[in-house]
Amino acid sequence: MNSYITIDGWRSNIRFSSAHIIPEYEKCGRLHGHTYAVHAKITGKPDEKGIIMDFTAFKKVLRDIVNDLDHRVLVPEKSKVAIIKKGKNNVNINSLGKNYEIPTKDCVFLPIKSTSAENLSSYILNELINSELLTKNIKEIEIGVDEGFGQGARISKKL
Ligand SMILES: [Zn+2]
Repeated sequence: MNSYITIDGWRSNIRFSSAHIIPEYEKCGRLHGHTYAVHAKITGKPDEKGIIMDFTAFKKVLRDIVNDLDHRVLVPEKSKVAIIKKGKNNVNINSLGKNYEIPTKDCVFLPIKSTSAENLSSYILNELINSELLTKNIKEIEIGVDEGFGQGARISKKL
């Protein structure tokens, strides 16, 4: 028998609004924004109290992760397409021959190749795994990132 808990980011208010550029696609290569919601599914064995994981503690960790992304420009540090030069005050992003100069403190630098919903899901999943929140009874985690309503990516990892 498999038990799991789910969190719906739209309804639980685990959301963030950020700007990004995806130079790999022409339309997304223009600086634009989304409101994102983060969803989670945790599969595991309920403990003696019948609980897989405490919802409140779990939501707090997810909120802490997304708060770092909220109202910022998401910068994919490992981009192979955009050329990113990080200065003390400003970041210069050269993407598709266009130059963006953005205050460094308005940016968040992510260890991913592009800020697709897929890669953001993967980033959040890794942050969650590093958070020390996860207990031994948890067998699998799925994280989803919706880019606005009705479209999003999901990623899962067995522990
Ligand atoms: Zn976008």
